[in-house]
Amino acid sequence: MEAKALLRQFGLHPKKSLGQNFLVDEHALSSIVRAATITSADVVLEIGPGLGSLTRHLSDVARRVIAVEIDRTLIPPLRSMLAARSNVTLVAGDILQLDPAQLLTDYLTTGPPDHLATYKVVANIPYYITSAVIRHLLEADIKPQSIVLTVQLEVAQRIIAEPDDMNLLAVSVQFYGVPRIVQRIPAGAFYPVPAVDSAVVRIDLPDQPRVIVNDADLFFKVAKAGFGQKRKQLHNALKTGLSRPAEGIDRALKAAQIDPKRRAETLTLEEWAKLANQFIS
Ligand code: SAM
Repeated sequence: MEAKALLRQFGLHPKKSLGQNFLVDEHALSSIVRAATITSADVVLEIGPGLGSLTRHLSDVARRVIAVEIDRTLIPPLRSMLAARSNVTLVAGDILQLDPAQLLTDYLTTGPPDHLATYKVVANIPYYITSAVIRHLLEADIKPQSIVLTVQLEVAQRIIAEPDDMNLLAVSVQFYGVPRIVQRIPAGAFYPVPAVDSAVVRIDLPDQPRVIVNDADLFFKVAKAGFGQKRKQLHNALKTGLSRPAEGIDRALKAAQIDPKRRAETLTLEEWAKLANQFIS
């Protein structure tokens, strides 16, 4: 059934506050599933199933889909959309409050013994939780094999940014994984139609972070401080953001061979790692 008709049947309206723009274009839905390269052996964690349009496509190809939806009023239409699908588990809750490992333990009752180690995430999420969701997943005890996100085009471009144009979200994602934009999705593919286009981003996650750091928490603390003061020179931003003596910061920058006058946007991932490794937590 069409999104509009389904909402009407259940007396519901899309909630702007939860970023509810439902993807209704079948080509776009198929291309997201293709981008996630899901096989019949895969467990998929879907975030924000909405009215279940993407969930249906995922359930066609995956072994199991665990779909977490924050809006409890969408659970009845979701149940009706997915009634005949025995490989879908619906969970009412906020993904940011749930541990992916716990979800897998709670809802996977069958499968090979190593099933906990592998799962793929597919999500079409509101822009305001994109960064929190990515960090939540990437810092979880059991990380996904890959993440396929449909996000606002501008957020997608920030995720794949390169030195000279880096930002904290790009550093955080690229520390763990390799992101790329797979395709653009026009605003007209959604109901209701949003103001901006979207893009599908795939993030592949190798077993190890892409750079070697002594302490990941410290790495993020240093990067956060560096980006904390827009367009400030690095030594000033770090002095304000890290509560450490100024001489220590100058020494660390020198040891990492980074010009203190550079700006955070220009540093490579390797330079952030080298810099963070000069500090002791
Ligand atoms: N996946 C559906 C689709 O493609 O049509 C819906 C996408 S809609 C952009 C985003 C969905 O995420 C909404 O259903 C919204 O209620 C849900 N959502 C928002 N925040 C969430 C959270 N923290 N945890 C789980 N779901 C959330």
